Amino acid sequence: MSADTRMPVLFVGHGSPMMAMQPDETAAFLKSLGRQLPRPRAVLCVSAHWETDAPAAGAAAYPRTIHDFYGFPAPLYEIEYPAPGEPTLAARAAELTGATLDPDRGLDHGAWMPLRFMYPEADVPVVQLSVQPGRDAAHHLALGAALRPLREDGVLILASGGLTHNLREFRQHDINDPPEDYAAKFEAWTTVLVEAGDSDAMARITQTPHYARSHPTPEHLLPLPVAMGAGGGAGRVIHSAWIYGVLSMRAFAFG
Ligand code: ZN
Repeated sequence: MSADTRMPVLFVGHGSPMMAMQPDETAAFLKSLGRQLPRPRAVLCVSAHWETDAPAAGAAAYPRTIHDFYGFPAPLYEIEYPAPGEPTLAARAAELTGATLDPDRGLDHGAWMPLRFMYPEADVPVVQLSVQPGRDAAHHLALGAALRPLREDGVLILASGGLTHNLREFRQHDINDPPEDYAAKFEAWTTVLVEAGDSDAMARITQTPHYARSHPTPEHLLPLPVAMGAGGGAGRVIHSAWIYGVLSMRAFAFG
């Protein structure tokens, strides 16, 4: 494939599972994104909801739908996203990154929540890759850089997390509350370094002001350095929204 058929790399926030029952502006964004992008041959999804010590790739031919959330309305547990897997893509991702293959892994809601808006027919094969909360942003930048060749092969790299993600504070808010000051500042800081393509600053993201309160645990941020590494340069904002005053739904495209 020529350079102009290279697929972009995306970072999206997958928000609350409730988005499936009450589609909001982010759901509308994801729907139109799926229609606007060049159609991928397959999706490699790096989800915040698959945490491992070392990289792993899901190699099931028919990954099951995982309902990995608790205390939500019953209809959310009946959602199925029956996209096929692609074991050969999983093997290629493993070859590029040193990941192990997990033949039993299904699709978690970090993957199927955005994908069922982007590709509602579930007709694009999906392979998941895990994040490593015990490793730093530099590791995840390198993980993304290793995946870069897949973009020449019609593979859409979809990094799914959240730019700010304080679940301890979100229950204190209504869904339409304006952003907390610290969260807005962290979003703005991160956007500056994404738009500058500053991978050195991304490697040190955990040392920046408001990081700790924006991410009491790192897993929802880690897909972002993977996306930046795979993008190989600057990214641009393609969607912005807030839910619960502490969850940024800002999305970026790279390349
Ligand atoms: Zn999540």
